[in-house]
Amino acid sequence: MDHPVIAHIDLEALHHNLREIKAAVPKSNILAMVKCDAYGHGAVEVAKSLELETTAFGVMFLKEALQLADAGIKKPIVILTGFFDAEELSIIDKFGFECVIHNFAQIEILENAKLSRPLRVWFKIDTGMHRLGFQLYQVQEAYQRLMQNKMVEKPLRLMTHFSDADNIKNNKTAKQIACFEEVVVDLEGEWCMANSSAILSWPKSHVHWVRPGIALYGASPFGDKNGLELNLKPVMTLSSRIITIHDLEKGATIGYGSTFCCPEKMQVGTVSIGYGDGYPRNTKSGAPILVNGIRTQLVGRVAMDMIGVDLRPIPDAKIGAAVILWGRGLPVEAIAASAGEYQYELFCRLTRRVRYQFYQRSIDIGI
Ligand SMILES: *Cc1c(COP(=O)(O)O)cnc(C)c1O
Repeated sequence: MDHPVIAHIDLEALHHNLREIKAAVPKSNILAMVKCDAYGHGAVEVAKSLELETTAFGVMFLKEALQLADAGIKKPIVILTGFFDAEELSIIDKFGFECVIHNFAQIEILENAKLSRPLRVWFKIDTGMHRLGFQLYQVQEAYQRLMQNKMVEKPLRLMTHFSDADNIKNNKTAKQIACFEEVVVDLEGEWCMANSSAILSWPKSHVHWVRPGIALYGASPFGDKNGLELNLKPVMTLSSRIITIHDLEKGATIGYGSTFCCPEKMQVGTVSIGYGDGYPRNTKSGAPILVNGIRTQLVGRVAMDMIGVDLRPIPDAKIGAAVILWGRGLPVEAIAASAGEYQYELFCRLTRRVRYQFYQRSIDIGI
């Protein structure tokens, strides 16, 4: 058995999730977020699969846009940090990428550039996130300078980003929406505000464009609900196999630090997965795991390459038995909660050691 950790990517589930999103925002164009290798799901395969169903793709950096263009993606690709120097801008021009413009340094580079065609600009306004975007007092000047620039496509697209949209009890999002509406009232152009959590809980943010990320991949943007409860399907199922089985006496301890002590005579399996694959080291004993489809628990501390699993509920488990760490039948949110981490991060930090398999249909993955 070679290193058996596999991320199974179910592209039918991806399409199911996109349909759910579209049902929530039937009038909006979809700017599908495939930054960070499509949240660890494989940007090229995800973008190819979604290309006919989305209006555009969003990435953070030029390098990510180039990866999609090299793979033959033809739909517009929006770079959410824009460019940092004239050289990057000339590459963006050459490939016809679109850009978020969020500061005056970029406007200056743009004013001094020679472009082959007008650049499609997404004009970003900071309504309270304080990460990227023009401050309210800068909006008029920045907007005018972009409008006067012949190498900028008109009208601009107008966007902002929410800091608290996953918290429906907090009125920050309502304030950001009201602020955006007020600032752009005299400006021309289509609007774009919502991430996944706003798509699912802030209807006023459902304007010309939306920018779903995590919901596409079937996980929840909220702390208190999982993807299934939002009618989403997990796109990634992370699997591995049992590589050895021990019969242990009451009192035997498992793994580094001897953090788990067998409460009775029991079988413990050693599973080939660890933080070297991206399984979070902070996941606690008791975290759910599926062995041969049956729910059991992690025992002991997560090591770089291995974890222990309680085999009491699966007495017939053998070496090679299939183990699911998250995905189908086991919400990633449960592991995130056990590890005190965030489901977004669990996807993004899978390492290069993990193999990927892509499926057009939600078939039995036979693990
Ligand atoms: C990542 C990102 C999104 C998508 O966020 P989700 O919570 O994953 O839906 C949308 N907009 C911007 C600016 C982002 O950086």
